[in-house]
Amino acid sequence: MNYAKKSLGQNFLIDKNIIKKIVSLIKIKNQNIIEIGPGKGALTDEIILGEPKSLILIEKDAELAKKLSKKFSKNKLIKVYNEDILKFNFGIIKKHKFSVFGNLPYNISSQILIKFLRLKKWPPNFDNIIFMFQKELAEKIIGKFPSRNYGRLSIVSNFRLKILKKFLVSSNCFFPKPKINSMVIHFQPYKNNFFKIKNIKTLENITKILFSNKRKMINKNIKKILNDSEIKKLKIKINLRPADLNPEIYYKISEVYEVK
Ligand code: SAM
Repeated sequence: MNYAKKSLGQNFLIDKNIIKKIVSLIKIKNQNIIEIGPGKGALTDEIILGEPKSLILIEKDAELAKKLSKKFSKNKLIKVYNEDILKFNFGIIKKHKFSVFGNLPYNISSQILIKFLRLKKWPPNFDNIIFMFQKELAEKIIGKFPSRNYGRLSIVSNFRLKILKKFLVSSNCFFPKPKINSMVIHFQPYKNNFFKIKNIKTLENITKILFSNKRKMINKNIKKILNDSEIKKLKIKINLRPADLNPEIYYKISEVYEVK
């Protein structure tokens, strides 16, 4: 049956060259791979050609998961989970190092990224995370300081992940064709971090408070987080707007806040 569920963000890749280009971003041979939202298996088949050591497929759509289970029933290296990635417990697969692929369902792609950013165990069991996002969201993730797209998502993502922008993918490469283009990003988790933020949610909350009004100076909001002497010590200029502060300042504020 030829169908696509909009509610599950189903836009299937149909362009062979793009499929090859995505999968060839990392070495597959003898690696443990996870694919989020394998759908009809466009990326999956290419990953299998690369001879992975193991392959875990996490697909929420029961019909598609059933088809994948049937298709790969004889292949002992492939395990299909008919689960929601947002509820998936990575604890059950913690023994190995994995690389992750996902042409993500666009309606929950930022939540999926945040799930990875919030992993308790860090560095995580993931060496490489290769995700495809809608272009607008991807630009917010890679948004460098200072630029129009710099903001909460790029500050928080850059804290834990090395972000390698890869390439744009035209909406013509999918069926059904989405309204906008996509972008592939390759993430590599940082093993060490100069800034010692214990809980990533501190950074999320601090950026939330300071970016609550992008156009206003931070003078009022910063006082909800730090006292005058802390502001002075960190040399924060309170007449700036949130997007005028570089990521390191947000990381320092989070560090100071956590030991208060
Ligand atoms: N990988 C396939 C491809 O590239 O053609 C399909 C990509 S499609 C953009 C997204 C896939 O994620 C769909 O197969 C959809 O059913 C699945 N999906 C949607 N929400 C999900 C969730 N919460 N957990 C796991 N898979 C989900």
